[in-house]
Amino acid sequence: MTDGLSNLSILRRNWPEYVDPRTTHLVDVAGVLIGEARPVVIAGPCAVESYEQTLSAARAVAAAGGRLLRGGAFKPRTSPYSFQGLGEAGLDILARVREATGLGIVTEVQDPRMVERVADMADMLQIGSRSMQNFPLLVEVGRAGMPVLLKRGFSATLEEWLCSAEYVAREGNLDIVLCERGIRRDCSWSHARSQFDLDVIEPLRRATPLPVIGDPSHATGEWTRVEEVSQAALEAGVHGLLIEVLAPGTERSELRCDAHQGVPEDTLRRIVEFADSREVAAASPAAPVASGEVQ
Ligand code: PEP
Ligand code: MN
Repeated sequence: MTDGLSNLSILRRNWPEYVDPRTTHLVDVAGVLIGEARPVVIAGPCAVESYEQTLSAARAVAAAGGRLLRGGAFKPRTSPYSFQGLGEAGLDILARVREATGLGIVTEVQDPRMVERVADMADMLQIGSRSMQNFPLLVEVGRAGMPVLLKRGFSATLEEWLCSAEYVAREGNLDIVLCERGIRRDCSWSHARSQFDLDVIEPLRRATPLPVIGDPSHATGEWTRVEEVSQAALEAGVHGLLIEVLAPGTERSELRCDAHQGVPEDTLRRIVEFADSREVAAASPAAPVASGEVQ
């Protein structure tokens, strides 16, 4: 292990309050605590596409027992010709939907110049997979002093992911939730978008007390497999889930972003019921230490 890794302040061994692997640093997002024994489900549309669609999705999330609303106003898209999100108009819609439903808002910021504007509205700032190593963005978000959802880059090692979290933490912001969202795999396997890395959850939880959640929507890319991957992620020890939802009354063919991923309301309800039926296990102090692991 290189020096740059061993001295990260977010490692348990360097964070005196949390050396015990049974402890977790709780992150409070608009009154919802992430990191407790009760898993938290954050759900909502991929992108904010209209007020009606976002409100309908939010009502479905609240009715199913989801506790925070996700939705992107600024969307990271592979092609510059794809829908990029509604931008600031999307933030205004999210603010109105929070007003109408009371759900706290988790939304992505991509551009360091927009951090202040997004932070003004949001309850939690999402750093997307493609931005995990945008270091100036991590620094700005660290300075914003609000909870951060840090997605794992889809080709990032556990160590690279932890180093990115440290960029946020060293600005004085320790309210970071890590999100496993699937990693790149052999592209000839066309049946899934990426692969949920179940195996990273336990070593990550042993390495750091920051809460860890799972995003089965971007891992599978297909709503029909989101429920089983949600269950597997919970079995593996995540503190919560980030789930994309199809707004009732919306046709998939109308959607401009991730149309195949959103689960219908009844599937979301079953996912929340499953999450509510179990407690997050403590990270295991007795687990064997793999070579190359951050300790
Ligand atoms: C998202 O959550 O909408 C998203 C774009 O995810 P990711 O950054 O993991 O691809
Ligand atoms: Mn999406």
